[in-house]
Amino acid sequence: MKNLWNDTEAAATVARYGKNNISEDLALRVYTTRLLGGDPQLVLHGGGNTSVKTRSKDILGEEWDVLCVKGSGWDMSVIEPQGLPAVKLETLLKARNLDALSDEDMVALQRSNLMDPASPNPSVETLLHAFLPHKFVDHTHSTAVLALVDQENSEALIKQVYGTRMGFVPYIPPGFELAKVAGEVYDRDPSVEGLILDKHGIFTFGASAREAYERMINAVTEAENHIAANGVNTFAQRTDLPANPASARDLAPILRGAIAEALGEGHFNRYVSDFRTSDNVLNFINGVDLEDYGLRGVTTPDLTLHVKNWPVILPPCPADGIDAWAEAARAAIHAYMEKYQAYFERCNAADDIERTMLDPMPRMAIVPGLGVFGFGRTAKTASISGDVAEVWMKTVTEAESIGRFHPLSAEELFKLEYWSLEQAKLKSRKILPLTGQVAVVTGGAGAIGAATARLLAETGAHVVVADLDEAAAAAVAKSIGNGSLGVSCDVTDPASVRAAFDAAAEAFGGVDIVISNAGAAWQGEIGTLDDALLRKSFELNFFAHQSVAQNAVRLFKLQQTGGVLLFNTSKQAINPGANFGAYGLPKAATLFLSRQYALEYGKIGVRSSAVNADRIRSGLLSNDMIASRSKARGISESDYMSGNLLKQEVTADHVASAFLSLVMAERTTAGVLTVDGGNIEAALR
Ligand SMILES: [Zn+2]
Repeated sequence: MKNLWNDTEAAATVARYGKNNISEDLALRVYTTRLLGGDPQLVLHGGGNTSVKTRSKDILGEEWDVLCVKGSGWDMSVIEPQGLPAVKLETLLKARNLDALSDEDMVALQRSNLMDPASPNPSVETLLHAFLPHKFVDHTHSTAVLALVDQENSEALIKQVYGTRMGFVPYIPPGFELAKVAGEVYDRDPSVEGLILDKHGIFTFGASAREAYERMINAVTEAENHIAANGVNTFAQRTDLPANPASARDLAPILRGAIAEALGEGHFNRYVSDFRTSDNVLNFINGVDLEDYGLRGVTTPDLTLHVKNWPVILPPCPADGIDAWAEAARAAIHAYMEKYQAYFERCNAADDIERTMLDPMPRMAIVPGLGVFGFGRTAKTASISGDVAEVWMKTVTEAESIGRFHPLSAEELFKLEYWSLEQAKLKSRKILPLTGQVAVVTGGAGAIGAATARLLAETGAHVVVADLDEAAAAAVAKSIGNGSLGVSCDVTDPASVRAAFDAAAEAFGGVDIVISNAGAAWQGEIGTLDDALLRKSFELNFFAHQSVAQNAVRLFKLQQTGGVLLFNTSKQAINPGANFGAYGLPKAATLFLSRQYALEYGKIGVRSSAVNADRIRSGLLSNDMIASRSKARGISESDYMSGNLLKQEVTADHVASAFLSLVMAERTTAGVLTVDGGNIEAALR
């Protein structure tokens, strides 16, 4: 492992933070914490922490000995000084005299001794940092070290690799008891440079940030060298894989649908997927003994919080055998749920603690010959599952190469998965109404499309913003954030529409909500209208909607979790305006199209409705058009725009709200929602 310490960068960090009155101790603590946090082979999504013992002044100007230790919720790779809250050290050290301390009391003790009460919660490993006397303490879940400690003979192996330079701490779940035992191991031999925690990770320490960091890099390098010298990173490979496997984007909607948790009455907890494959992944998943080593458990306990204790292993899938595979995959996921439920019931019965079972859905789905799908309620957590899957596979591969991968038992991992502190975190997690759902919005860069995409994202959905103008689509997606995606899409070209839905399946695993919005208006007297122009309008204002709807239904059928299909039809669909036939005729057909889809797909839970909007400032009704039309009628622009029953201008945001309300209206289909401020001639009867 490369030592990334750099004197110039370290000095620059000290100078930069010094301008904001951050001490050298804390600045260097930030510097090496980032070095460690930037390497997924050391630290992955919360699996690690660091500290420095220094002095800090309180509001009264009094100086205290403090432990600045990583705060919960901070990512080590981008940590800032405020991510290392200061806790009064003396009180933490006094706690060492206690015989026992519950997790809740430990958190309370740490919080009540914060120098700044607004700080995040100090790490659950704070006491372990405090009980070690060194100024700088570093802790990681190095994959190479885990390959050594996830062995049956881990203690002997650690002795063989490190001699007496590292202390060995038996497995104890994080908390007070682990801190106390680790402190005792250290006290028995204070000459050690660090501690190896069985089935968990590694601590190193030193008088300076550099010493602690370099001891970490050296210890990890020794573990890597041992693996390289003693291991062959190859599993015996299966020989029955299809020559022409199905693609990830074809399988993702099937899996995503099967993993959606049915809550009854057409409700689902949905997940998005993040597909990963590489030579290392394929070596792991194509092994003949995958069902053995792949189901033994995660490599360090906190990974269970991200991906549970084991993946679901599915059959390989040939490109021409997707239907049969889908049945087998659904059965495998069902079996996974039953296995998870049995695991919960068995482990939960071991004591008197009351726990609520978490969802029984897998977070890693392996398809031999193809790769692994990570799942999460959001794109961010799906990518964490993907990251964890890759690192877990690497560690198991290395552990198997030097011996036999022997992780903690399911019973031990259960204690962490259902740890009271983690259960409390879950309860405070905010779930939005559309969390886990994926929306496609066509014409997504226009006024109405962008407003709708933004509102759906604010309500929790990930959005694929599809627009003819790729750069504009990307800009809208970027401004929405939330992992949303901008794609180029010419809705009049079926191949382009297919590509946009494929992009949604690739990025998120499927689609739940489709807003078929793209359109354009052409004018002309109907009796003399150019035939080509009318046909062109039908291409965009009718056939494109049909193409979008067909793709939506294709994915909805694979997912088997219903779906919402909404069309922007316009007032012209029912209340024709003179010279607007070229626009109104295809829109009328599209209104009927929305009902046809409602009729034919209601039985699979698909809701299809239309929004009739009128007089919205947008690409179809530009500021110039508003100026000329109001002038022609001899009224002001604002009177023209608010020429409705409510006497208020109708904006793209109002149309977006109408789309959202149809998304949320669970028993509404074949409906039409009018957004025009009130126009009695256009009212449906
Ligand atoms: Zn740890």
